[in-house]
Formats: sequence, C-alpha cells, structure tokens
Amino acid sequence: MDEYGNTGEGRAARRDEAVRAAVEQGLLGPDSPIVGLLDVTGIRESAAELRAAFAEVTAPGTPVLHAFAVKATPLVPVLRLLREEGIGAEVASPGELALARAAGLSPDRTVLDSPAKTPAELREALALGIAVNADNPQELDRIDGLVRSAVSRSPLGIRVNPQVGGGSIGATSTATATSKFGVALRDEGAREWVMRAYLDRPWLSRLHAHTGSQGIPLSLMAQGVAETYALAEEINRRIGRQQIDTIDIGGGLPVNFASDATAPTYAEYARALREAVPGLFDGRYGLVTEFGRSLLAKHGTIVARVEYAKSAGGRAVAVTHAGVQVATRTVYVPGSWPLRITAYDGKGRPKSGPEVVQDVAGPACFAGDLLAEGRALPLLDQGDYAAALDTGAYYFAHHYAYNSLARPGIYGFVPDGAGGVRFATARDPQTLASIVAESGGAHAGALTTLHAPGSR
Ligand SMILES: *Cc1c(COP(=O)(O)O)cnc(C)c1O
Repeated sequence: MDEYGNTGEGRAARRDEAVRAAVEQGLLGPDSPIVGLLDVTGIRESAAELRAAFAEVTAPGTPVLHAFAVKATPLVPVLRLLREEGIGAEVASPGELALARAAGLSPDRTVLDSPAKTPAELREALALGIAVNADNPQELDRIDGLVRSAVSRSPLGIRVNPQVGGGSIGATSTATATSKFGVALRDEGAREWVMRAYLDRPWLSRLHAHTGSQGIPLSLMAQGVAETYALAEEINRRIGRQQIDTIDIGGGLPVNFASDATAPTYAEYARALREAVPGLFDGRYGLVTEFGRSLLAKHGTIVARVEYAKSAGGRAVAVTHAGVQVATRTVYVPGSWPLRITAYDGKGRPKSGPEVVQDVAGPACFAGDLLAEGRALPLLDQGDYAAALDTGAYYFAHHYAYNSLARPGIYGFVPDGAGGVRFATARDPQTLASIVAESGGAHAGALTTLHAPGSR
C-alpha cells in the first residue's frame, strides 16, 4: 500500500474494465489478436506520487528535475503525457532524443546519458543545451574540445560507478566492480582523476550515478547515492566553492511484479535517502532523478487471444499471440522476469473456475516461447484472452522482430465516467507493408546484382 492507500485495487478494476471494453469495441478480436493497453489514470498517479515524494524530503525551493528514462517506454504519447505531469526525459541514444523532442520536451528538461555517444551526438546535445553526463575520460576529452569551440548552456557532469555491488539480476546491475558504466570510483587512481577533472574544469557542475535497475535493494541504492554525495562534498571542499550544484541520482526503483500493490513506493525511497544522506536534501544541491520502470511498468497490460488450446504430455497449453516479440526478457530469462498472467473469457470478462496447471505459449517458432510455464490459472480455452500484467515498461514498447511478428497496437485508456472506457491510439499496429519495408523490401534485387570478379 502506498501514500495514496494504493493497494492497486483501483488499478486492477480499471484494467478489467479496459479488457472488456477493448473486446466490445473491437480493438481486440480474431483479426487483432494482441494489443498493449496503457492506464493513463495510473500513469498520472505515479507521476504525482514521484513529485510528491521528493517535494516532501527536499528543502523548499530546491530545483528537482524528474527525467523519465525514455528507454523504459519509448513512445512519444507517453513522453507527452509525462511532460504534462511535470516529468522530463533521460535519453541514451539519438533515437530516444528524437522521441523526446517529438514529444515537445525542452532541452532544459532533457538529460543525455548513453555510454557510447559519438562526437556528432555530443555536438548536437551541447548545441541544444541538453545536460550531458560524461561516461569516461575519453568522452570528457571530446567534451573539452566542444566546450573550447562553442558556447553551450548544457549542464555538464561525470557519471561515476560507486561499485557498491550488484543485486539479484546481473544484467541490470550497473554498480558492480566491472560494470561498463561510468568511472569506476574504487579503481586505483580513479577518485583522484575525478577530483582533477573538476578542479581543471570550472564548468563541470554535476555528478551522476545510476546504481542499477530491478533487483537492487533500496539500501544498496541509497548507499550508491550516499557515496556519490560524499564525492561531491569532497570535490566542492577541495575547490572551495559549490562547483557541483546538482546531483543526478539515476533511477532504478524496483517494481513489484507479484501483486497489484505498489512496493516499494517513491515515498519510501525518498525517506530512505533522506535518512541515509540528509545533506543531499538541505537545499545546497539541485536534484535530477531518472526513474523508468517504476513510473510505467504497472500501468501496461499485454492482452492476447488464445488461438488454440491443446494438450501435450498431459500439460494444457494455450497458444496465444503474445510471446518473445513482446516479452523478450521473460521468455529468455524466465527465472528473473516472471510475469503475472490473468485469464479472460472471449468477451473479455475475468475467467473464474478451478485452476489448472498450464503453459501460456507465444506465437514464435521455438519451443521456449512461453509467457508462463506450468502456471495455475482458470483453464484457457480457444477464443479466450490471456493478459500479461505490469508490462508498461521494457515490454510491448521493446518489440523483438523474431518471426517478423508485427508490433501490436498500443492504446491508452481512461474510464469514461458513465461506466464505460474511452481509448486513444498511442501506437498503430504495424502493417505488413511496414514489415516488408523494414526488412529491405526496397532492395529486393540488391544481392543478386553483386558478382565477385570471375564468378557469373
Ligand atoms: C536504465 C536507466 C535508468 C532507468 O532505470 P529504471 O530501472 O527503469 O528506473 C536511469 N538512468 C540510466 C542511466 C539508465 O541506464
């Protein structure tokens, strides 16, 4: 339960209504057997909870930029919705920057963080005035050159890796000893290098760390922030002024994939931070946050039609239209990324009845394409729907083109106030023409016209 008494009951009720309405209104059916649904009410609630949580712990007047990690849900309408809720954008590629700009995010609400920025990307970011966190000494060299050649309004900083250790999921642990991100602070000479970098560059005004995503305990996240803060204090003391004026604490608040309740909450994290690092909130430092998964995950649902219900070796298997193309991590690493599945009947109503251990399979042509294996659910029949919950971040907006399966349509929804549901298209379903075009359709003869000398 969170600050707003949010056990997720309202969220679950809105979701059930939306699934029923999606079937009734024809968004879901035999000819459109998979959709992504976004709970606009829930997204607004999470954004408000984030703002309130940090407003509660910061000194009055502290500048705080909450920059949504665009990689979590790279959809322009989502970024625009968050912009309306006072949330900026953290981008990590030219594509993500283009999405943020298309959503109308201003440069002063945008932060660029990728580990592989090209000279052209850096030049553009500095020309636009977007905040940049340099990942490593070579990147800082490039920034030096740009700062010498042109005036920029970009707030500039360095990303450090406090090396406080990993969490339960290796692939999302960014603060391990050998992580590829940032300047590894505990390596020999690294701390002194960072200190020098700031002493030599009066225009370096920010310090950044992102300690990990999903699977990192709050205490470890707070420790990462505490070490970053301690470094900023040390640098400022050594320089004799508040040169570092803003600390970017990254994102990474884990999401509860086990029930509808929000846990942990932004309020809990903000209080844990104030407890661990009180000086960070006394008004001397501006703050940037970069939450992704925790803002969107619980507000997305993938709903897929059961095309066939079969049995194999005594196991019931529902073959649906949602699999590896929309739930890539879950299918490839099911132990780390289990998803809740709910069963709906052919009219989109929650299915009841005795639970049967079954597999919920996807449409891709490999045996491991399972959304859930051996899961106890009301038996899914042909024409029913299976919903994969908490998939608003890192799922349906992260399409994986296996088997040339089309990207599903994504629809936002709100209650219409009269017992119904209103939908808006956030992304059209991908057409076959688009699949062909993206698969080299314009170059059909390109390879047959190539001949090595001497061959036919
Ligand atoms: C991925 C990432 C985030 C967001 O992480 P979440 O776990 O989605 O909150 C924030 N900052 C950086 C630098 C990232 O790479």
